[in-house]
Amino acid sequence: MTTAGSGKRPLESKISTEERLRAEIARLEKIVQVLMDRAERTVDQDMSEYQLFEGTLMVGDLIRRRTDELGRALERNEKITRTLRESEARFRGLAEQSLAGIAIVEAGYFTYMNLRFAETFGYERDELLTLPLMETVSAGSWAAVIEHVRRRLADEPVETVLGYKGKKKDGSKIDLELSCSRMEPAVREAVTLVVTDVTLRRQAERKVQALNRRLARQAIRDPLTGLYNRRFMEESITRELARAARSGYPVSLVMCDIDHFKSINDDYGHQAGDRVLRAVSKLLKQRCRSSDIPCRFGGEEFLLVFPDMPGDIAKEWAEQTRAAVEAMAIKHQGKTLRVTASFGVAVYPTHGTTSQQVMSAADDAQYAAKTAGRNQVKGAPVLALFD
Ligand code: GH3
Ligand code: MG
Ligand code: MG
Repeated sequence: MTTAGSGKRPLESKISTEERLRAEIARLEKIVQVLMDRAERTVDQDMSEYQLFEGTLMVGDLIRRRTDELGRALERNEKITRTLRESEARFRGLAEQSLAGIAIVEAGYFTYMNLRFAETFGYERDELLTLPLMETVSAGSWAAVIEHVRRRLADEPVETVLGYKGKKKDGSKIDLELSCSRMEPAVREAVTLVVTDVTLRRQAERKVQALNRRLARQAIRDPLTGLYNRRFMEESITRELARAARSGYPVSLVMCDIDHFKSINDDYGHQAGDRVLRAVSKLLKQRCRSSDIPCRFGGEEFLLVFPDMPGDIAKEWAEQTRAAVEAMAIKHQGKTLRVTASFGVAVYPTHGTTSQQVMSAADDAQYAAKTAGRNQVKGAPVLALFD
């Protein structure tokens, strides 16, 4: 039994006072009874009537005093019980009104929950009160929730809030945030849980993330062709040349320009021109490795950056691509469009040490291909050895 002086459990200490007083009164009443019995039996023997009378009065007086004390103790007791009841009712009211789900779990099973908690999981309160906590946790989150509760019970450091997947009565999953604390006194394995349904918030977050990804993609891509835009290519080429300088490998640049593209627009319309741009871009992209950087450099001009590719391989690539463009039959509104393209190839570090120098060399080579009659591949001057 807890000592009355601990001050921790007023109800218990008052009960013990009450028990003590009742016991004393019962003992005193027994004494009175004994004295009365004896008075009857020994009136003319060794004890005088007066002594017995006096003794009985004394004990009677003691009983009265103890009874008064008991009355006061019971009054105090009643007051404490009422206060406790009121404060419990107040906390219950708070818990019931809370917009968060609140529950108490003892040895793995629910022993209390507010309405919101049951509603969060699609249960009636009575149904859920017979179930273990884990029935409301999606299997994928079992380990995390068990570990979180275990750490709380063991008073080990743990994240303030645990994000996890809950399981509703109908089996559907919801995104939840859990804040858990050990109940005091920890007589049993008891914890209070405060659970917030964050499914809508998570959905909104996922939408924002998807939007951000799309925006990030749009920031580096050309909308018509899906190839990298010029700004991204310029950032990348600087990075690639620096990496090549450190590692000592070459970087090839291929400039590609569609021949007489203006006449496609003039003869078939702007949409037809767009269709051709998309078709050529798709072909270029398909012929690239994931580490290559194909970009739309201008209107009908493309620049391809090939890290770790020597010039002769780049030239071979350009030749095959040229043939593939020439062979392409692009359907547009029942018509078949055909185009050719001219290519210029330059290599870092052979044709320059800066991106500007190498790009300019590739552009010159492409121009040379144009002037030489179009639909062909030219290497920048040193590469002319390969011609
Ligand atoms: P060359 O063989 O000398 O390269 O001749 P070209 O006609 O291809 O070159 P020019 O520079 O004279 O014409 C390019 C045309 O590309 C002009 C422009 O209207 C068109 N163009 C640029 N961007 C787009 C686009 O996004 N869509 C369409 N349909 N046309 C575009
Ligand atoms: Mg052109
Ligand atoms: Mg052009």
